[in-house]
Amino acid sequence: MPSRAALRRTAAFAVLYAAAVLAGRMDLIGGTELGLMWPAAGVGAVWLLAQRHERSGWLDVTLLGAISLVGNLVTEAGLQLSAALAAANVVQLLIFLYVFARSCPLAWGAPGWGGFERVQHLWGLLAATLAGAGVGALIGPAALAAFDGRWSAVSAAVWLARNCVSIVVITALGLRLGRLSERRPGVLTRPTTARQAVRERLVRAPDRRIAEFCVLAVTSVAAYTATFWIVRDLPLTFLVMSVTVWAAVRFGTTFTALHTLITGTAAVVFTAYGGGPFAAVDSPVARALVAQVFVGMTAVIGLALALGRDERETLAEQRIAAEKEIAAQAGMLSAIVEAMHDGLVVIDADGRVVMSNPAARRLLGADVAASTTLEDHGLLHPDGTPIGRQQMPYMLALAGHEVRDMDALVCPGGREERLLSISATRLPTCDRAAVVVFHDVTAERRHRDELTAFAGIVAHDLRNPLTTVSAWAQLLADALQAEPASEVTGELADGIARIQRAATQMRELIDDLLAHATARDAPLTPEPVDLASVVREGAAARGDLPHDGTGQAPVFDIGELDAVRADRALLRQLLDNLIGNAIKYTVPDRRPHLTVTSTRERPGWVRVEIADRGIGIPPGQHEAIFENFRRAHASGPYTGSGLGLAICKRIVERHGGTIRAEDNPGGGARFVFTLPSADAPAPGRTG
Ligand code: ADP
Repeated sequence: MPSRAALRRTAAFAVLYAAAVLAGRMDLIGGTELGLMWPAAGVGAVWLLAQRHERSGWLDVTLLGAISLVGNLVTEAGLQLSAALAAANVVQLLIFLYVFARSCPLAWGAPGWGGFERVQHLWGLLAATLAGAGVGALIGPAALAAFDGRWSAVSAAVWLARNCVSIVVITALGLRLGRLSERRPGVLTRPTTARQAVRERLVRAPDRRIAEFCVLAVTSVAAYTATFWIVRDLPLTFLVMSVTVWAAVRFGTTFTALHTLITGTAAVVFTAYGGGPFAAVDSPVARALVAQVFVGMTAVIGLALALGRDERETLAEQRIAAEKEIAAQAGMLSAIVEAMHDGLVVIDADGRVVMSNPAARRLLGADVAASTTLEDHGLLHPDGTPIGRQQMPYMLALAGHEVRDMDALVCPGGREERLLSISATRLPTCDRAAVVVFHDVTAERRHRDELTAFAGIVAHDLRNPLTTVSAWAQLLADALQAEPASEVTGELADGIARIQRAATQMRELIDDLLAHATARDAPLTPEPVDLASVVREGAAARGDLPHDGTGQAPVFDIGELDAVRADRALLRQLLDNLIGNAIKYTVPDRRPHLTVTSTRERPGWVRVEIADRGIGIPPGQHEAIFENFRRAHASGPYTGSGLGLAICKRIVERHGGTIRAEDNPGGGARFVFTLPSADAPAPGRTG
């Protein structure tokens, strides 16, 4: 069942269409069966467009055809001719509807349709109109010729022109009014605030607008009266064109469509009664044709101008809305950056501070401002050596490295020294700038250092009693071996073995704790070191004995290694830890296989890789294993303190490098770290 609203619309359009048919039939062009104007074509187009999504669409088409038939009949066209004309009208409208839906997919009623408001919609309307009226012009005049035997190209052209003008002008107006009456929520995308802003900027005050409207109305009447009635002999059509242009550029599409409908009707009626510049044309059919073409051209120019203006206005509204949104977001971001406790600076490739927040100024000194450089603020390594330009976090970030939690000392304006944890990353939108974040870790580190120092002392002091425990356990074991074997001696031997294992584990832990303290605190003495020889020493020490006395001796594959500038003792410890892990974390009874290679990563830096074919690192643990006491294989047969990689990280970072763990593509794990190359300039000491 069709909805009540649809039926109401059908009834209203039927009445309107009947009136339009009668109006068109009332004023026939002299000696023909063709109406001077054919408003029914436009009304019919709007009718079918409005109802095309209704289930009762067939009813509308049938009714339209019937009214056309009856309208022609009552105006004495004869049954067969009336039927032919009605058929021509229906066919041309159906073709129009079909082409319009395709050439202008966002047609009225479709989802996302924003109204007849783009120049593109006008071209769609014109294409559909020409297609529909073109077919109508083939059928209609041919039917007329069949009855009176007089077919002429001019009458076919008149059919085409009057139907085109009627469909374009009335449909444009109908679509605009239909859109206004629709007001579906959510379809209008323009924000009200933006509208108001545009109004303020683009539209005059309302009273001035009403005044302009009145002046335009009076001028239109004057121009048409002058052109089509008073000054009959002069071709003053440019006068009437200018009022259409005025309406279009100042009052928008709906008004222009209405203006064109009224003035176009006036032009055709004046011409019909012998007024205006076209009255000089002798043939009534040719005269009607010229008048229709003139109205059509005026309508297209006016609508194109008005739609262009509407489009520009919409774009301006959208731009203002976007500007406001961007400004609001920028305001929010800057408020967040200002309120942050961490310091944030943006630095360009020359090291100049482009932007800084209050926390950065507090941490680095109040004079952090544009045009100062980060080097001006005397960033130091935690051991007091200055951070060279190439090792500056922003330089590393600009070179494509992700800097995370790099420690640095700073002494802002001669005040107390502060320890900062620095992270830096290249700005994704700009290769030539890096954002650097400073987190003040002074208090946190002081606390941790105290704990570590305490642990170091305790560890050191525990060594002596532990040595005593081990020695006495060994003595007991030896003494027990001399006794005859019994159940009691067996139990005692087992207990002593447990004491010895526990003592060994404890010694390992103490050694790691002490190594950790050394890696953190011992003064750094970088010197050129032959990396290959240190690796070979480590390999020889591990290769001599199968690890833990049961497995197989590891295989080492050592490539050409570049010399580095590093503290020899710490470098040895770093390699020892990594090689030790690579051997330790192997499937039991499988022979460990290590590959050590190096490359010159960028000027002044060597990248070293130690890859193994062991059990690999569990997913998601690649970063966490560098934390203190973090173990990824705690449940397996592998013993350890979880401090080895934390020591490695500390050693690499004290040399200004970075370390990370990856999966070895051939299976196993791969540790990659960077160290300054032997030919890199030696950093100066400050104290
Ligand atoms: P641990 O004393 O436990 O060996 P580390 O700090 O040296 O402590 O290593 C931390 C964790 O990282 C280890 O417990 C282990 O799970 C993992 N790991 C380290 N090296 C390797 C490796 N070569 N292969 C697989 N896992 C490793």
